[in-house]
Amino acid sequence: MNKGKKLYEGKAKILYEGPEKGTAIQHFKDHATAFNNLKKSTVEGKGVLNNRISEHIFNNLNQIGIQTHLIRRLNMREQLVRLVEIIPVEFIVRNIATGSLTKKLGIADGTILSKPLLEYSYKNDDLGDPLVAREHLLEFKWIKNQKELDQINNYCLRINDFMLGMFRGIGIKLVDFKLEFGKTNINGVETILLADEISPDTCRLWDVVSEKKLDKDRFRKDLGNIIQAYQEVARRLGIIHEEGNISEVKFGKPKSIKIKNK
Ligand code: 5GP
Repeated sequence: MNKGKKLYEGKAKILYEGPEKGTAIQHFKDHATAFNNLKKSTVEGKGVLNNRISEHIFNNLNQIGIQTHLIRRLNMREQLVRLVEIIPVEFIVRNIATGSLTKKLGIADGTILSKPLLEYSYKNDDLGDPLVAREHLLEFKWIKNQKELDQINNYCLRINDFMLGMFRGIGIKLVDFKLEFGKTNINGVETILLADEISPDTCRLWDVVSEKKLDKDRFRKDLGNIIQAYQEVARRLGIIHEEGNISEVKFGKPKSIKIKNK
């Protein structure tokens, strides 16, 4: 499929004009960044894995009635998506305290929260995506009104419920994650769609037994074996199948990994 002009280049993805009005092509890069771009590297094969993992999760969410921007995956690194106007807010859902929550508030790392905690960050790299209150979202019109905010909060909690179960079934604790939403007009109706991606780049995922981190914290904290951890998530989700020991699988060698074609 021919890509149109580049619309936007982010840290981990590029968005191109799509083949039809209202569509875009989302390209997953291998770039990894952390701490507001202070730490940068390339993790070979990450984009391919995130493309597949995010496709899998978005398709599953679509089946439980969450509308997403994903139309279909095009190839190893690209998805055809609906072009949306991104709401400039990161919706963060936490089940276990870690990361910035523990740093900011001194909560013990690993504290299990009594119920999912929803946080909001204003999407602004220059300001370092600051944590904001619900009142900021409405006051500065990042979210149109209380009804729209209630709708998105409700989506976040439903997505969390679904993903908690999905990951628990494959021996993974869903610690926390970040969601982004966008707006588009479908048949004359302004519609809120889940956008961006859900992958080990945007979630914290711990092995149930060993608590081994299977997510971007391996990059953030220099824990090594980043791609092996992402492969492990993809393998447990049933997206990739490989012969032999996962630690021996070098990503990028097609013979060692078979990708299921849906
Ligand atoms: P924290 O606020 O503890 O750094 O992150 C909470 C969760 O949201 C983590 O799963 C983290 O990966 C995700 N998250 C928060 N902000 C960002 C972001 O700007 N980019 C990505 N990829 N993930 C984020």
